[in-house]
Amino acid sequence: MSERKKKFRAEFRKNRTGKKRDNDLTRRFSDSATARDAHHEHDALARDERISGKGDISRKRTIIGQTQDDASDLGAMPGVGDNTTLRGRVLCVYGLTSDVEAPDGSIVSCATRRLLKTLATEQRHVVAAGDWVRFRPSGEREGIIEQVEPRRGILARNSRGRQHIMVANVDQLLVLGSAAEPYLKPNLIDRFLVSAEQVGLRPIIGINKIDLLDPAELQPLVGVYARMGYPVILLSATEQRGVAQVRQLMANRSTVIVGQSGVGKSSLLNAVEPDWQLRVSAVSTDNQKGRHTTTTAKLMKLSFGGYVVDTPGIRQFQLWDIIPEEVAQRFRDLRPFANQCHFPNCTHTHETGCAIKDGVADGYLDARRYESYCSMREDDEEVSEDWE
Ligand code: GDP
Ligand code: ZN
Repeated sequence: MSERKKKFRAEFRKNRTGKKRDNDLTRRFSDSATARDAHHEHDALARDERISGKGDISRKRTIIGQTQDDASDLGAMPGVGDNTTLRGRVLCVYGLTSDVEAPDGSIVSCATRRLLKTLATEQRHVVAAGDWVRFRPSGEREGIIEQVEPRRGILARNSRGRQHIMVANVDQLLVLGSAAEPYLKPNLIDRFLVSAEQVGLRPIIGINKIDLLDPAELQPLVGVYARMGYPVILLSATEQRGVAQVRQLMANRSTVIVGQSGVGKSSLLNAVEPDWQLRVSAVSTDNQKGRHTTTTAKLMKLSFGGYVVDTPGIRQFQLWDIIPEEVAQRFRDLRPFANQCHFPNCTHTHETGCAIKDGVADGYLDARRYESYCSMREDDEEVSEDWE
C-alpha cells in the first residue's frame, strides 16, 4: 500500500520535471493529463502563496487565492478575449486612471471597466502598477482596461484589513545602502533581505558612494553576503563605478529599488539611464534622514529592456507581518543551523543546545548577522523608526 503510494508520488515528480505540456490534441488521449494539470495548478498556487507576502505559518491560502481568483474571474467576463483588446503593462495608477504601455510602446491612458471595479472587493484598487492587462482602445491614446492577468511577485501592504498591492509582477529587489552619508546600516539591509526572501523576490545588494571611503573597508561585510550567495555590487553613482554591472542585473527584469532616503537611488538611476534626469535630493548635514518625494509606485522602462520601480517611501515597505518564528528561516546563513537545535521550538536567543548560538561561538556564523536576527525578532519598532 505504502509502496504504491510512493510510486505514485514518484510518477508525479517525473511528470512535473518532464517535457512541456502536450498540446490539446494529445492531451485528450492522455490519462495522466488531468492529474498532471491538477499538479500544475497546485504548483502555481504554492508559488503564489510564497510571493504573497504572507509567511509560511501565518499565510492563508484564501488571501492569495483571492488575488488569483479575482483575476481569473475577470478573465472569464463576457466581452473579454476577443481580438479588439490589446495586452499592456500598467506603468502607474492615478486614482481611477492608469497609464498603460501598449505593445507598440506608446502610453495609453486607461479607465477601468465598471464591472471590473465592483468585483474588486478585497483590494483598494483593482488595477495595480506592474499589472499585465488587456485593454480596449477607445480613442486617441485612451482605452478601457477589461481584464487583469493573474499576478505574481506582489509587493503589498495591509491597511485596515485590506491588502493594498503597491506593485505587481516584480522579479527582484535591489537593496541599496550607502557606504557613508548616510552611514551604512547592515541591519536594515538584512531586514530588506528577509522581506525579499519572504516574498520570493531575488535580492541584490548595492552599496553606493564607495568614493567616500576605501572600499577595502567594506570587504568583511561584502564577504558575509557574498558567501550566502547574494550578488553584491559596490557602486559610485557619481563616479560611474559599478553601473554597468547594475545594468546587466536589471536587463529584462522588473526591479524594485529600496533603501533609505539619501543613499542615492535617484542618482543611481540617472547613472543607469542618463536621459531620465530624476531629481536628486541634497542630503542636509543636520538631518541625514532626508525626505520622501515619491508617493505612488511607477514603472520606468529601461532602454536596454526591463523595468525599474522606485518605491513609494520605504515607510510603506515595512510591510509583511512576518511572525517571529519564521525569521530564522529567512536568514540564509542561519537557516541550516536552525534545524539542529536541541529544542524544536528554539528561538535561538536564550536556549541551551542552540545550534545557531553554537555556530556563532565557533565562528561559523557571523556575529553581526546573529545580532541582526535577534533585533529583528525582538523589536520591529526600533529598526523601522530608524529608517523613516
Ligand atoms: P535617494 O534619496 O536615495 O534617491 O538619493 P539621491 O539620489 O537623491 O542622492 C542623495 C545625495 O547623495 C545627493 O546629494 C547625491 O548627489 C549624493 N550621491 C548620490 N550618489 C553618490 C555617490 O556615488 N557618491 C557620493 N559621494 N554622493 C552621492
Ligand atoms: Zn536555536
